[in-house]
Amino acid sequence: MNWEVVIGLEIHAQLATKSKLFSGAATSFGAEPNTNTTLVDLGMPGALPVFNKEALRMAVMFGHAVDAEIGMTSVFARKNYFYPDLPKGYQTSQMDHPIVGPGHLDVTLEDGTVTRVGITRAHLEEDAGKSLHEDFHGMTGIDLNRSSTPLLEIVSEPDIRSAKEAVAYVKMIHSIVTYLGICDGNMAEGSMRCDVNLSLRPKGQEEFGTRTEIKNVNSFRFIEKAIYCEIERQMDILEDGGKIVQETRLYDPDKDETRSMRSKEDANDYRYFPCPDLLPIVLDDEYVEEIRANLPELPTQKAKRFEAEYALSEYDAGVLSSSRAMADYFEDAAKTAKNSKLAANWVMGEVSKFLNQENLDITESPVSAQALGQLLSRIEDNTINGKTAKDVFQSMWQGEGSADEIIEKKGLKQVTDTGAIETLIQSVIDANPAQVEQFKASEPDKQKKMIGFFMGQVMKASQGKANPGLVTPILNKLLNN
Ligand code: ADP
Ligand code: MG
Repeated sequence: MNWEVVIGLEIHAQLATKSKLFSGAATSFGAEPNTNTTLVDLGMPGALPVFNKEALRMAVMFGHAVDAEIGMTSVFARKNYFYPDLPKGYQTSQMDHPIVGPGHLDVTLEDGTVTRVGITRAHLEEDAGKSLHEDFHGMTGIDLNRSSTPLLEIVSEPDIRSAKEAVAYVKMIHSIVTYLGICDGNMAEGSMRCDVNLSLRPKGQEEFGTRTEIKNVNSFRFIEKAIYCEIERQMDILEDGGKIVQETRLYDPDKDETRSMRSKEDANDYRYFPCPDLLPIVLDDEYVEEIRANLPELPTQKAKRFEAEYALSEYDAGVLSSSRAMADYFEDAAKTAKNSKLAANWVMGEVSKFLNQENLDITESPVSAQALGQLLSRIEDNTINGKTAKDVFQSMWQGEGSADEIIEKKGLKQVTDTGAIETLIQSVIDANPAQVEQFKASEPDKQKKMIGFFMGQVMKASQGKANPGLVTPILNKLLNN
């Protein structure tokens, strides 16, 4: 049987506000348990929530970025369930009237094809606390630091058809929220988490199959792997004539398998009702338009600008604009170097290679964008050639100084004195009479190939410091004497 994969994603993005969604407590990560809390976050009866305006602004920014309708009147609702890390007995969320939606996102896949994913809605909600299973007397502690941290839950339509599309979509959302500066995007710390809803249907069938939901997958790689696992599991069941049970599952990266967590609740089970402690949020056009007008440049806009302004290929522009930090680094280096293509090649080449080797983010690069730009301008003005520049870069990476300091200290300046180069070439010619004779007797085509040999000898004799642009014409002149 030929199966089609159907995927819809729910992404929880933690909004980068300083204080919580409904209290003045800090949202900082890694504080001592239960210190980032007020009576509201602890769920004390009678403590009243106060809505964080900054979270609202961020949600509206996101809505604009995905061409969504903005909910001019949105309503907080209580989602009731019991869990030890939720002392109030309900999560304050949005149900019937979310702040954002519907909208859509055009996702570019690796092979360049573009597919549109509908965004059903994005709503504001608070996070719950965390259970810490401690070694201490085998007890479990509750940490409410995360309680009431603002989340934006971004729900997609079931428009995604493969693991690759899912990852491309999540990467794009990640890049949008970090460009907007509304989420730090740190998946390892849980600032962005993803629930994967997946079902299969026979190719050509209109109706969707029964889905499962894989909860809280927290890296791009795990999203891809969890999807492959779940496709295989569902396919095995369906091909044996079995039925998929609608349930919540968990992905275990160590065993590379998904397993059942609990049967799936319906929305009815949560007994949603409008929160009587919070007024509906009513927006006016002026507020919404002011946010639209001040939106920063988004990844696709930046990629287009890079193509036009720096004459980059579509591919290079896409890679360099994939994160805001990478884009800023490239632009700073290009401005200093005054050769954007060279800067693009170096950021995607040497810089990325060194970062990957040491597993560093571009913001942690020991060579700043300006320092790289200075190095590249030394290639531009013929002080050094590209090969020497790689050695200089390595020294810069190891903290040996600026490009100019290293070039000076190690005596790496290219020889650009034509007289000196001529002497050097003459000595190479004198040392290789047989090759010179062969060269003179050859057809022009063959000669072109043989030039490489002499070039290599000259570079060797100059310890890589002869300027290749100057060597070629002089070499041709002397060989044809
Ligand atoms: P809930 O998780 O609260 O039940 P929804 O029913 O709104 O929420 O669906 C959540 C997500 O599941 C959405 O992203 C939606 O696109 C996706 N989804 C719904 N039905 C299917 C299906 N049959 N197969 C795959 N994904 C689905
Ligand atoms: Mg869900």
